[in-house]
Amino acid sequence: MLARRFPGGSLKFLAAKSPRNLRRHTTRFLAMDEIDGYEITQEGDPIKLAEMRTLTFRDRKILAGSTPVFDFGPITRLYDQSDKRVFECLCPSCAEYSEITWASIQWKEDDPDSAHWVCPRNGCVVEERFKPHMVAQGRWRATAPEVKGHAGFAVNCLVSPHHNARWGKLAAEFLLAKRAPETLQVFQNTILGQPWKTEGEDFDEHELFARREAFNLDNLPPETLWITAGVDCQDDRLEIVLMGHTETDWLILDHRVFWGPIDGETIWQELDSLLKEAWQHPNGGTIRIDACAVDSSDGGHLETVMGFCRPRFGRRVVPIKGVAGFSRPIFQRSGTKGQHLWIVGVDAAKSALFARVGRNQGIRFGDALLPIFFEQLASERRVVRYVRGKPEARFERIKGKRAETLDASVYALAVRQLIGQSVDRRAEELASQAAPKRPPVVIKSKWLGG
Ligand SMILES: [Zn+2]
Repeated sequence: MLARRFPGGSLKFLAAKSPRNLRRHTTRFLAMDEIDGYEITQEGDPIKLAEMRTLTFRDRKILAGSTPVFDFGPITRLYDQSDKRVFECLCPSCAEYSEITWASIQWKEDDPDSAHWVCPRNGCVVEERFKPHMVAQGRWRATAPEVKGHAGFAVNCLVSPHHNARWGKLAAEFLLAKRAPETLQVFQNTILGQPWKTEGEDFDEHELFARREAFNLDNLPPETLWITAGVDCQDDRLEIVLMGHTETDWLILDHRVFWGPIDGETIWQELDSLLKEAWQHPNGGTIRIDACAVDSSDGGHLETVMGFCRPRFGRRVVPIKGVAGFSRPIFQRSGTKGQHLWIVGVDAAKSALFARVGRNQGIRFGDALLPIFFEQLASERRVVRYVRGKPEARFERIKGKRAETLDASVYALAVRQLIGQSVDRRAEELASQAAPKRPPVVIKSKWLGG
């Protein structure tokens, strides 16, 4: 069943669930089906692992197909990188080519059977019975013809000749499906062949990357007043986001990763050096990290984090714990007596962050940031879920994405509240340091000089 030999070649079927199986095979032609359903396991990404098996062939060919599920899924990504071909039909009335989209299928209210196609070129009304002819005369057109060597095809059910895919039937299905987001998604995925975009705010990491401006720690905008750091702790690394604060804006200045076991000394020494670093402020003075929040809530690092922060409280280096709930304050001392821990209201902080990013207002990105920063920043979206009939907003992680830079950014913006200094005082300070320091007066002792 799973292997066939025939003159000129052989065919093997493998399950994407156990990509380890793939290692024993190499192939010139790889075909993968329903890739939006593949799960990334501990062995890795089955798509990447399968692609590796074709590396030795110069004339390899890789075919991937799927019903698209979510807009961040693998098939949508692959299609976006391709020459993006769409299937266009010939209008029997005006003889021009157009894609049959759902928007161009119309029907009389409460009468889905009356569904027909309205040719977007000239508004011709086209009945279902012309479909076979229109499709037979159809053509593929690349909408990104500049892409070479990667063909991508998108097609929906509206061109299907099947009896169950007639426009009137699909219109009736749509009227049922649109009653709930879950069923509407199934219709959009399976009938229209389109990925589902989850409601709420979500960001395109590429668009965010393109927003980067020419500033960084060594080239600070003059309006920078303070710098804060947010530290996300993982078992094998610290991820740090450095954020500048103007009177109103947040400036993401840098993202650093220190590798090493979290219970070892090296990464903490590296963090300590970063906290001691000073940068030239354009107004003449120097600026350092004014406050730093270190996450202590992940995987039993509390003691380690406490041990690092305790001797540095005086420099506003504090352990924090993220807590969900939109009504919580962004930053607050823990209520437990004698506990030196600060609570970050992560949902409230993320809402503030996402609102600024969404409006492209009040947040700016520096040119030291790499694509990975934006990929992780865009790793969650605010969605509304119905819990026992009541809408509830929450942030949901997009499947398969990591969120370290998002978390660290949230900590960095929250810890700003530890700095009580006034804007005027600070601005003065950053400018006054410009005065050249007098060299210390040294009186040489005759006794010392011998
Ligand atoms: Zn027409």
